[in-house]
Amino acid sequence: MRTPFVVGNWKLNKTIAEALALVTELKNQLGAVKGVAVGVAPPFTAINSVAKRLEGSAIATCAQDAFWEASGAWTGALSPQVLHDAGATWIIVGHSERRQHFGDTNESVGKKACAVINCGLGAIVCVGETLAERDGGRTLAVVDAQLDGALANLDKTESLVIAYEPVWAIGTGRTATPAQAQEVHAHIRKQLAARYGADRANAIRIQYGGSVKPSNAAELMGQPDIDGALVGGASLEASDFVAIVKAARPS
Ligand code: PEP
Repeated sequence: MRTPFVVGNWKLNKTIAEALALVTELKNQLGAVKGVAVGVAPPFTAINSVAKRLEGSAIATCAQDAFWEASGAWTGALSPQVLHDAGATWIIVGHSERRQHFGDTNESVGKKACAVINCGLGAIVCVGETLAERDGGRTLAVVDAQLDGALANLDKTESLVIAYEPVWAIGTGRTATPAQAQEVHAHIRKQLAARYGADRANAIRIQYGGSVKPSNAAELMGQPDIDGALVGGASLEASDFVAIVKAARPS
């Protein structure tokens, strides 16, 4: 049985004060939720304050990216080690916005995923095709190449989560249908089984991301291979995010 994992990716939103107000509300409202793991990924500047505010709660503090080197002359970079020191326990890598605007490649995502896991943290590895790739019938090939890059040197899978996020569904209000998402999730699990064996593949959570809202969350997360959600826009309001968390059920 996989415990669904719902993570809010706040992107470049929320000052420290705003972040604290939101997590305080989440902590109050989600205190009693059972059977679902929850995380929030604030901007780097708010990680430490959010982690402290979430102490004693089951909500994990996540980071939105990390560099692969632990320390050294890397101006502007943040390693898994310093993010852990600030309070992060999970790190998202390979988000399509990092790939599109900040130069992440399948290879660099692989280095980041290894650095995160080898540091003892959880890695949420994002994969997903663009609209042109889907229309060109290349969805599965693109996802395979992204998985190959991300997982090339990754042996430990206990704290590995994959997020399938079709790029055309992120921030657009256009969601993959549950059937479209399930098809890719099942394919990802098959690829994980080929790499790690069926038992380990069955234990790895695969989140869906792309315009998840309270109105579509239950149907998406009700699919057999969808184990939670990575939520952007709808994670910025406590009521929407709480409704999405409550829509998740253990599979
Ligand atoms: C995301 O950024 O990971 C995401 C899924 O965004 P949204 O929910 O806004 O589509």
